[in-house]
Amino acid sequence: MSPVAFPANKRAPIYRDVPDEKWNDWRWQLSHRLNSVEDFEQVLRLTESERKALTTQGLFRVDITPYFVSLINPDDPDDPIRKQVIPRAEEIVPFTGMMEDSLAEDRHSPVPGLVHRYPDRVLMLVTTQCASYCRYCTRSRIVGDPSATFSRAEFEMQIEYLKRTPQVRDVLLSGGDPLTLAPKLLEELLSRLREIEHIEIIRIGSRVPVFLPQRITQEFCDMVSKYHPVWMNIHVNHPNEITQELADACDRLTRAGVPLGNQSVLLAGVNDCVHVQRKLVQDLVRIRVRPYYLYQCDLVEGAGHFRTPVAKGIEIIEGLRGHTSGYAVPTYVVDAPGGGGKIPVMPNYLISMSDHKIILRNYEGYITTYEEPITYQPHDPKTCPYCQNKRPEPGQTGITGLLDGDAMFIKPEHFDELHNRGGGLHRLRADTEKWKPLGIGGGEEL
Ligand SMILES: *Cc1c(COP(=O)(O)O)cnc(C)c1O
Repeated sequence: MSPVAFPANKRAPIYRDVPDEKWNDWRWQLSHRLNSVEDFEQVLRLTESERKALTTQGLFRVDITPYFVSLINPDDPDDPIRKQVIPRAEEIVPFTGMMEDSLAEDRHSPVPGLVHRYPDRVLMLVTTQCASYCRYCTRSRIVGDPSATFSRAEFEMQIEYLKRTPQVRDVLLSGGDPLTLAPKLLEELLSRLREIEHIEIIRIGSRVPVFLPQRITQEFCDMVSKYHPVWMNIHVNHPNEITQELADACDRLTRAGVPLGNQSVLLAGVNDCVHVQRKLVQDLVRIRVRPYYLYQCDLVEGAGHFRTPVAKGIEIIEGLRGHTSGYAVPTYVVDAPGGGGKIPVMPNYLISMSDHKIILRNYEGYITTYEEPITYQPHDPKTCPYCQNKRPEPGQTGITGLLDGDAMFIKPEHFDELHNRGGGLHRLRADTEKWKPLGIGGGEEL
């Protein structure tokens, strides 16, 4: 049991008489998920907007575990958990500038379901199924389709690609949610990855501990610990999601040697508040989960009403750094539309810089100056064993190539034009000094 106490065994009144052995059985939770107007009316009173969304055909899949729906305050139409999982009418309205595959993941896939965007690590999409479905899902284009489940043939292609790509040392299992796979299948996946010598670490991205903590059984933890080093990132957005059940699941995972991180998404009306965020990250470190990333909400169709200005994210980080444990401060990132990868965005603490002095401000706003060393003897790359043959080839990943040299040509006046162009990745051509869109929509390949 987790040493820290949180609210426990919350159940909506209709589940009061469900025997504990059923309630605590992840299979029971999965097979009793709520998805229709009739289901939800048994636990809360739907708003007109929610009713309209739930009766609209073709919307992104809805499914919520009885455990998670029980965390909603039924009397609060603005409940932060409710907004994450119950659709509202805003979802129906198409937003301009929204994209089906805003991160251009499909274009970075050497084989179906593998996204190889960074030099040494790949994202492996192993299923389209989740325990419950987030309304702002960045992969709603592929997630949720009940007919598109695990494909053996694609899995074999992914394994083959990994075997012949030795620069990959980190494989990140995602989807969908890998922990919704049949236990035997998940174990097979982990053991097949472990057979590949150059794969040093395996990571699992999962919201199952949050939607369905019952799945994190001791048996599951024992299985995972056979394939170490395995790291896991969970996905908590609001302190109300931190229950005794989640704390206990995280306790079992950390005891099994799985380091835990959290990736949350900045969502309007859910957690776009420095006080909510501070409570969230402090509660996370109490259950030994390290806040890892805070994501700017992606440009996903149907999720426009969740978007916040980037300034809100910066304000939140500014309200965390220095004000609470450094362990509790995530990196705020914007995943670049068009496939540029995650870009960290931070408050400015470096105010000015000259050759011998820098001027900084601290979290309270105090200004300080710092003298640079006059005699700096840098290490010698010619004799350093780690420097030998270690520079990545420019252009190896596209992104390295993009930065190689070109960024130097950019002058302040070039940005005026960029502000008036559409979104996405651009490259400034050195020959013509004109911007060229990259990626989506027939642009130049990275
Ligand atoms: C986020 C992501 C990763 C992992 O990035 P880290 O910064 O190492 O956590 C890898 N591949 C893709 C495509 C990603 O989106």
